[in-house]
Amino acid sequence: MKGKMALFYVLLSLMFFLFGTACLWQFAKNREDTEPAAETLADSSESLQDQGQGKMPGQQEMQQTKAGGGAQGEATSEDAAQEEAAKEETSQKSDAVAEELPSDEALYDEEEAVVSETLATLIRQEHDKIVVLDPGHGGDDLGYTATDKDQKDQILLTEKEFALDVALRTKALLEKEDIFVIMTREGDTGEDLKQRVDRANVLPADFFVSIHLSMKDDSMLHGMSVIYNDQFYSRGYGSSDLAEQLLQSVTDKTLEAPLGIFPCEEEEEEVRLIVMPGVRLEMGCISNRQEVRLLGRDDYRQKVAEGICEGIRLAFENRQTEQTKQNTEDDTDE
Ligand SMILES: [Zn+2]
Repeated sequence: MKGKMALFYVLLSLMFFLFGTACLWQFAKNREDTEPAAETLADSSESLQDQGQGKMPGQQEMQQTKAGGGAQGEATSEDAAQEEAAKEETSQKSDAVAEELPSDEALYDEEEAVVSETLATLIRQEHDKIVVLDPGHGGDDLGYTATDKDQKDQILLTEKEFALDVALRTKALLEKEDIFVIMTREGDTGEDLKQRVDRANVLPADFFVSIHLSMKDDSMLHGMSVIYNDQFYSRGYGSSDLAEQLLQSVTDKTLEAPLGIFPCEEEEEEVRLIVMPGVRLEMGCISNRQEVRLLGRDDYRQKVAEGICEGIRLAFENRQTEQTKQNTEDDTDE
């Protein structure tokens, strides 16, 4: 009888041991599986690229991308290669972002995703109004140019130079209004469009404003227009509201003609892929001789910048009013 009991106890403890080991193994495996979730922000840039090739998903889908990049379908070897490339890009991108922000050694983790997330949170903690300014073109990409036919086609004006100058003037004005500005370029550099967009998307900005000029077939036509991102829905205050406000403020300041606001075309990626209210300002027609003269003048550029600054300032104000109104409506509904 005693022998049988002993055998029973031995078997029982053996079972407990095996069960314990299995639990530990399962626990370790789960940890491994959940770890990639930390990379969410880094992955979001990659997912945005994927989205660029297909249809643009709704905002909800995009939010999911931001919140859980780890939960994407099975990866083929091609996906793996893309992922590698995207990671590399993200790492360069984060370095670039880091350069522009108050640096703190302790913040920089091995995982660039954690860096972005931490920096993003930090910026948000310090600033409640954040705008991304994107001066169009740069480097080898001049954008549109105006040349003087009488002077051996000497270049009178390039879009890239105009855009950067106006963006820097706008930045200085916005900072006086306590609005934090992130620039996609601050010098004559030609960063890839997609990289600019990804960089802006990782950061928690309120508005994205890209600065350009336009070229019309009709050389008599002059004036300002704004292209907006109609793919991104934002409750209360969206891209078209921002576009209207900016066009109004800029034309009020410069007294130039408003040509209207238009939804962006398929190929206008810097506006289409942005996941915040975003617009592209076309601050004049480089195809019009009189306007080229204006666009080259310092005082006129300053006026354009003042108009953009005023438009952004009012956009924040109007958004606030709109949100308060909606919150009150929600409260009364409940
Ligand atoms: Zn342009």
